[in-house]
Amino acid sequence: MGLTLKAHGKINLTLDVLSRRPDGYHEVEMIMQGIELHDTLQIEALPGEIILTASGLPVGCDENNLIIKAARLLQQFSGTGWGARIHLHKEIPVAAGLAGGSTDAAATLVGLNELWQLGLTQEQLSELAVKLGADVPFCLRGGTAIARGIGEKLIQLPPAPKFGVILVKPSFGVSTAEVYQGLNLNNLGRRPDLAAMVEALQTGSLAAVSEQLANVLESVTLRLYPELQEIKETLARAGCRGVLMSGSGPTIFGLTEDAAAAAVLARQLTLPGCQVVATAIF
Ligand code: ATP
Repeated sequence: MGLTLKAHGKINLTLDVLSRRPDGYHEVEMIMQGIELHDTLQIEALPGEIILTASGLPVGCDENNLIIKAARLLQQFSGTGWGARIHLHKEIPVAAGLAGGSTDAAATLVGLNELWQLGLTQEQLSELAVKLGADVPFCLRGGTAIARGIGEKLIQLPPAPKFGVILVKPSFGVSTAEVYQGLNLNNLGRRPDLAAMVEALQTGSLAAVSEQLANVLESVTLRLYPELQEIKETLARAGCRGVLMSGSGPTIFGLTEDAAAAAVLARQLTLPGCQVVATAIF
C-alpha cells in the first residue's frame, strides 16, 4: 500500500522581524501563503529502514535531506518498527525562500502518520514539525496564515484570492542564517502593516494586496545581491501588479490577476540565468 502526496511551496505576503531572542532566533510576524507549485512524494511503508530517491531538480538524498530527518524523528517519537521507501519529485527551486525542504518534511510527517497508523493529532505533528524547521508547522496545513513566534504560532485566515504568481529564482541560493545575521533591527526599511494586509485580502483586490506587500529581509538580501532589484523592476515593467522577495530570498515573485495572466507574462520575460515559473495562489 502506498500514498502520493503534493507538497506545496509558499511565498510570504508580509514578513516583519520584531526582535532578536536570547537563543539567537528572531521573533517574526508574517503572512504565509501556499502556492500551486509543489513537489510530489510517493511513500510506501516497509519494515525498518528509510530509503529516499529523487527526480526533477537536483537535491541530495542523504541524511541532510529533511524528508529523512522527518521520518527518523517520527520513528523515534513513536517507537514504531516501520520504515519507508520515499520517492521525491522536486519541482520547487532549492534554497529559494519557497519552503521547499520544509514542505517535503511536513508531507513526510503527514504521510507516515497515516501509513504507519500512528494516530498523532495535528497538535502533536506541529510540535514535531517545529523541531525540523520554523516553516514546517505552516506547511502541515498550508493555505493562508498569520505566523508569529519563530513561525510556529499560526492563525489560519480565509483562503486568499486565486491570483497568478510569477516566481523568478536567480542561479544562486541564499543562506537564511546569513540574511538574519545581516539584519539591523534599527533600520528595517518599510515595515508591513499586518492588519491592512488582512483587510486587503478580504477585499479580494489585487491592487489592495499589492500595495501591502512588504518584507523587511529585503533590506539585507537586496544589499547583498543588487541584481535582485533589477529583477523586481523587470517584473514591475512587464506588468506584475505587486512585486516582492519571498522569505529570505533570493526568489522574487510578482502577482497577476490570475494563473493564465501569469503564464502569458512569464513566457515574455527574458531573465538570463534565472528559473522563471508561472504558478498561482493555492
Ligand atoms: P525556507 O523558505 O523554509 O527557509 P528555502 O526555500 O529557503 O526554505 P530549501 O529549498 O528548503 O530552502 O533548502 C534549504 C536547504 O535545505 C538547502 O541547502 C537544501 O540542500 C536543504 N534541503 C534538505 N532537504 C531538502 C529537500 N527535501 N528539498 C530541498 N532542500 C532540502
